[in-house]
Amino acid sequence: MNQFQYTRPAETAVAVKSLAKEPNGYFLAGGTNLVDMMKMGLVVPDKLIDINRLPLKKIEKTATGMHIGALASNSEVAEHAYIKAQYPLLALAINAGASPQLRNMATVGGNLMQRTRCPYFFDTAMPCNKRTPGSGCGALEGINRMHALFGASDKCIAVNPSDMNVALAALDATIHVTGVKGPRAIKIGDFHRLPGDHPELDNTLQKGELITSVDLPTASSAYNKHVYYLKIRDRTSYAFALVSVAAALHIENNTITGARLAMGGVAHKPWRLSTAETFLKGKAVNEDNFKHAAQIAMQGAKAYEYNKFKLKLAPNAIVQSLKLATGLAS
Ligand SMILES: Cc1cc2nc3c(=O)[nH]c(=O)nc-3n(C[C@H](O)[C@H](O)[C@H](O)COP(=O)(O)OP(=O)(O)OC[C@H]3O[C@@H](n4cnc5c(N)ncnc54)[C@H](O)[C@@H]3O)c2cc1C
Repeated sequence: MNQFQYTRPAETAVAVKSLAKEPNGYFLAGGTNLVDMMKMGLVVPDKLIDINRLPLKKIEKTATGMHIGALASNSEVAEHAYIKAQYPLLALAINAGASPQLRNMATVGGNLMQRTRCPYFFDTAMPCNKRTPGSGCGALEGINRMHALFGASDKCIAVNPSDMNVALAALDATIHVTGVKGPRAIKIGDFHRLPGDHPELDNTLQKGELITSVDLPTASSAYNKHVYYLKIRDRTSYAFALVSVAAALHIENNTITGARLAMGGVAHKPWRLSTAETFLKGKAVNEDNFKHAAQIAMQGAKAYEYNKFKLKLAPNAIVQSLKLATGLAS
């Protein structure tokens, strides 16, 4: 049995200092990912710093948008009346994940930080550069049907498993963090990393930094009406996305005046579809334009032995999510 220290500080500064001194320490939030990984021997900590007493639960409207504390549970965020009304994409994406029980425990900070569900990462008998740098990638030549289409490297083809992150990417969230050097803000697009030569690093958080909140820019009514989160998975519940699409459109007189699109299950980070967004702006709401946008979004996609089906599934999911968001499908 692995022995570890456990602390439960009530102040953020104490929690941050406590982790900074501990090379093999971890923050513990809802525990739904970390404790599983400890049980499987993927994480063997010397110290757990339980952050649940920190004052980071608040969800509130601010002058610049929406502030969501890192310890707000996924359920609290998804059921928050203002978020449901003004940021429905976020509520839909969160509710597409896990189960009600898990969403009650899981926190916003923990969800941002959750690790890949690549089976080679979870199987300690298999090589995995993410788990053990330099050991190789079992998925490259293995059963890779869940794996990436975009931004992978010869070291890692795993994907970010989160639904919430896909909506946060589409909504231009900012992640606020604090460490011994003080606070800083990271744009969601810069938070998660592509694997490159260092797949062991999922994100750009420095060792010891704590996520304190996620802030969303002012809700524009533009993005609360034509919205859809489409998640394609092996089972209709309790399964991670093969492909997911977060779509939000602003439409005036049947013309798209703004688009926000991001995909999940296709890259090591939530994958924003900026070129497709640019294409859609000024176009009429119709299936041909949605198909063209999907074609643009798929440029540069690269499949492996067992995930070639995603080359068809992903563009179809983009078109379908846009149709569902605009009422062209129901
Ligand atoms: C059976 C099952 C099914 C699931 N299905 C889905 C799904 O379909 N979609 C989906 O999106 N997710 C799914 N999840 C994942 C779930 O959403 C995550 O486990 C959860 O969001 C993690 O949050 P947590 O608070 O429990 O994190 P923890 O387990 O406490 O922590 C996870 C990691 O985050 C770090 N951490 C936590 N908080 C902070 C912070 N504030 N600052 C810095 N680091 C921090 C911890 O140190 C740890 O490394 C599933 C999980 C399970 C077990």
